[in-house]
Amino acid sequence: MGKTCLKCSHINPAPSGKAMEACPACGAIYTKVEYVLAQREQARAAQQAAKEAAEAKQAQKAAKAQAAQKAAEVKRANKAAKAELARKKGHLPTWQVLSALAATVPLMWWFSERDFAAKTAKARAAAECKHDLQCLGDSASIAAAPSCKRAVEAYAKYSAKWTDGALEPKFPSFRWLDKQSSKLTLIGDHVQFQNGFGAYSNMVYECDVDMSGNLPVVLGARVAHGRMLE
Ligand SMILES: [Zn+2]
Repeated sequence: MGKTCLKCSHINPAPSGKAMEACPACGAIYTKVEYVLAQREQARAAQQAAKEAAEAKQAQKAAKAQAAQKAAEVKRANKAAKAELARKKGHLPTWQVLSALAATVPLMWWFSERDFAAKTAKARAAAECKHDLQCLGDSASIAAAPSCKRAVEAYAKYSAKWTDGALEPKFPSFRWLDKQSSKLTLIGDHVQFQNGFGAYSNMVYECDVDMSGNLPVVLGARVAHGRMLE
């Protein structure tokens, strides 16, 4: 079996197999050439391994950086979601609360002032009414009508028949009984009293009312035959 020279590729048909045998074509010692080539191959392999290791290291570094970036993104998204949630819950920043207050407080003050003014005007009107015959009389002819009606009916020996229309007051007239103490007399003639024979006759009536308080107080009533003078 021949031996191929690794330097010149010559094939030696009958090698001796001795330790220091040289190629008959180029003179290179077989073992020396093989050793050098082996060394060269080893260096190349080592270089390749180092290159691969460096590449692996680079890839690992890139993966690490990517993971860090992703974590930062998640953190940022969480923060944004938290802020959005807080906004929806109505956690207003201080300046918004303050500006809302600045706008609301004068408005509330204005409303309460207006309310106070309206109440004061109403109270003043009520006080003035107590000394105004037309105003107090109009008020009394409505407010005291039920009590005065009963006071008038109490004078009927038999039955009493009211002749006023639905929209007509039972007490269309009035005069002062005592202006200073807001007492007045309500006057009307819209009732008929029955006599012992079953006949009805027209009556005039008066009802004294104290209007100084919140509710009218009936002081007394009088009834007489006849009609009011128009
Ligand atoms: Zn050779």
